Amino acid sequence: MTLPTYEVFAIKYAMRDARRTNHFLGGDPHDAPMPMDYFVWLIRNSDRTYVLDVGFTAEVAAQRKRVMLRRPAEGLAKLGVDAKSARDVIVSHMHYDHIGTFGDFPQARFHLQDDEMAFVTGRHMCHKQLRHSFEVDDVVGVVRMLYDGRVQFHDGDDELAPGLTIHRIGGHTAGLQSVRVHTKRGWVVLASDASHYYEHFEQGRVFPTTFDIGGVLEGYDKLHRLAESPQHIVPGHDPLVMQRYPAASSDLEGVAVRLDVMPK
Ligand SMILES: [Zn+2]
Repeated sequence: MTLPTYEVFAIKYAMRDARRTNHFLGGDPHDAPMPMDYFVWLIRNSDRTYVLDVGFTAEVAAQRKRVMLRRPAEGLAKLGVDAKSARDVIVSHMHYDHIGTFGDFPQARFHLQDDEMAFVTGRHMCHKQLRHSFEVDDVVGVVRMLYDGRVQFHDGDDELAPGLTIHRIGGHTAGLQSVRVHTKRGWVVLASDASHYYEHFEQGRVFPTTFDIGGVLEGYDKLHRLAESPQHIVPGHDPLVMQRYPAASSDLEGVAVRLDVMPK
């Protein structure tokens, strides 16, 4: 049996201005602008559709001073996906910018690592420094979905469908997972925040918001093992993704790019 392939898209839904010193543990000798993009991802073929992460709401964008460009569900709609009837959402981790619009996906089952739920409801959240990237309403919302039978837990690496696997990496949060997808150009790895920018996994540098530095560094090795080549690793927040990959269609320039074709 030949392995199925999927189309993969990154949809940009928000952005913010920042500087290089904001993005590297220990700072950076070059103090220059380094803006951040915010994405959700779509994985689909004729049989299956998966959404990876659901972004934040406009309310949280205003509180945290992020520039909201479109609700993630609106971005998905531009690619023909109706969030209201989506069946499967993979949650890379529960930071506010990855889980906030879960309410827009009322039919979906949410795929989450055991370790992430334990992390966001356990002793580490006693510390302001570790909980500041989470929203308590998101955590409570996911607990409600759990009691509604809509959370699918995974422990480590797992196969969701032929050609689609998830991989616990940890590091950034205790239960972060990345996604590996079989495409016509080979195995693509959607790192999400296992690597915020290309520079993190390419140079072994660490983003300041980190639970476990060792886990982050081990994670880079794992990304390399999982991906067909370094050009098959897609970081979670890098504006270069929008430059290196082609627009999903001519009317989606600056909104969504295709990741199942080789980057420039
Ligand atoms: Zn993030």
